Amino acid sequence: MTPEEFFYHIFSSLPRQGPGCAGATQKAWSYLPALPKNAQVLDVGCGTGAQTRDLAELTSGTITAVDNYQPFLDTITTRVQKEGPGGRIMTVNASMNALPFEKGQFDLIWSEGAIYIMGFEEGLRAWKPLCRKGGHIVVSDVAWFAKNPPEELTKFWKKEGCIPLTEDEKKEQVRKAGLRLIAMYRLPEAGWWEHYYVPMLERIHDLKKTYGAQPEFAQILASCEHEAEMYRKYKQYYGYTFFVMHNGGLELSK
Ligand code: SAH
Repeated sequence: MTPEEFFYHIFSSLPRQGPGCAGATQKAWSYLPALPKNAQVLDVGCGTGAQTRDLAELTSGTITAVDNYQPFLDTITTRVQKEGPGGRIMTVNASMNALPFEKGQFDLIWSEGAIYIMGFEEGLRAWKPLCRKGGHIVVSDVAWFAKNPPEELTKFWKKEGCIPLTEDEKKEQVRKAGLRLIAMYRLPEAGWWEHYYVPMLERIHDLKKTYGAQPEFAQILASCEHEAEMYRKYKQYYGYTFFVMHNGGLELSK
């Protein structure tokens, strides 16, 4: 197994691959006006589909779940075959950088814990054309909640290749991407602990028994534990915020 395969091996069997929870998906949804009955929803960076399933309960429309890791999509397909809703969830293996859809095809574009891969503003700019005029985009992404974050924390995020912006800085990026912010909503702590880090740390505990003696794998396990430790120590400084946005069809500004 390569280190990359090992990384996926850690996350494949977790309930979700990023911080979040059903209650938060429902809460972010509650800021949207009623969607058409046959709404077309795009779920970008869907992972094994925790939020895809929650979205399917919130809409009677169709959800296209996109990820670039096929085994995650296969998990969704298998679950849909067993539990439903058949015909209302489709999976597409594609990169979020080059989504293979028509302009204005979606009433709603949703993405939890994945837009950081492209960068918040870049992601919004790239996905906006796929959202119909008058449609909505909802994403959750990391933001600073407090000023003067400790050096240990800024170093950690730098190493992750992502410097969190404040919510105000992100609001400005929303505006520059030609979208209108309707609401912001902070993911509650349970979305990080109960629903994400607790299952992840249990999984790490198990995997250590088999892989702990192999340095390249032990290092990956340690870095996942370190991430959880950063959150435990510094959660007052950062978290995930849902940005609920309306696409009024404005041009992008330079
Ligand atoms: N939304 C899910 C998964 C978040 S983790 C949840 O909250 O549980 C980020 C997801 O983005 C992973 O499933 C990963 O496979 C996917 N991903 C990473 N790079 C990608 C890319 N370039 N295009 C599409 N998906 C990508």
